[in-house]
Amino acid sequence: CGIVGYIGFRDAYPIVIKGLHRLEYRGYDSAGVAVQNNGLKVYKKAGKVSDLENFVKDIDTDGTVAMGHTRWATHGAPSDRNSHPHSSGDRKLTIIHNGIIENYAVVKEALLAKGHVFKSDTDTEVLIHLVEDIRNETNLDLNECVRLALNRVVGAYAIVIMSVDDPDQIIAARKGSPMVIGVGKGEYFIASDATPIVEYTKNVIYLNDNEIAYIKRDDLLIKSIDNKVQTPYIQKLELQL
Ligand code: GLU
Repeated sequence: CGIVGYIGFRDAYPIVIKGLHRLEYRGYDSAGVAVQNNGLKVYKKAGKVSDLENFVKDIDTDGTVAMGHTRWATHGAPSDRNSHPHSSGDRKLTIIHNGIIENYAVVKEALLAKGHVFKSDTDTEVLIHLVEDIRNETNLDLNECVRLALNRVVGAYAIVIMSVDDPDQIIAARKGSPMVIGVGKGEYFIASDATPIVEYTKNVIYLNDNEIAYIKRDDLLIKSIDNKVQTPYIQKLELQL
C-alpha cells in the first residue's frame, strides 16, 4: 500500500517512519521497516505505524539506508508474519511490495518443490525467494537476478529490495503501481507517492512501468526490465504540503 525508502547520509529510520505517517491517509493494516545496521534488520507488526514505533523504540536503528511499508493485505490475513518486509530463505535479501503478484501460486509451487521454506502467506514473499533462487542457480549479481525475476512474474507491483551483501544500494521497480524517486545531493528518497518526499527535495523522477532503478548515494541507474538503460527525466514537484 505505502512505500518509503532512503539512502544517503542522514539517519534513515526517522525519515522512513515520518514518511510512513505521511502515507497513513491511504489506509493500511500493518507496518514494517528494514534498516542496514550492521546487517539487514527487519522489524514489522500488524497495526498502526505507532505500534511499530513502540515495538522498535528500544532498539538501535542507526543507519543511513532503510525502507518501510504500510500493508493493505490482499494475500494472507493481516498479521505480524504477513507484514512486509519479507526476506529470502537465507535472510540476505528483503522486499517491500505494493500490488499483487498474480502468478505467485505457480511460482511458489515450483520453489517449494526446490526446497524453499516460506514464512508468510503473501504473494510478495514468493518474489524475493524467486530472486534468491535465480541467484543460487546462476551466480549472477543481484541487480541482474532481480531483473530476471521480474521477467517471470505477472501482476502489478511497486517494489523495493535491499541486500545485506550490497548495503550501499537500494533497488526499486514498478509495473502498474506508482513509484517516485526524490533526487537530493548524495541522497535519494523513494516513495509510492510524493507526500513523504516533498519536504526534502522538489526534484523527482517518476519511474515508468517496467523500469528498475539501482540507487546508490551518488549514482542512479535506471534500466528497463528488458535490460535497456533509460535516461531519467527529473521534474520539479509542484505539490505543497
Ligand atoms: N499483495 C501484498 C500483500 O498482500 C501487498 C499488499 C499491499 O499493496 O499493501 O501482502
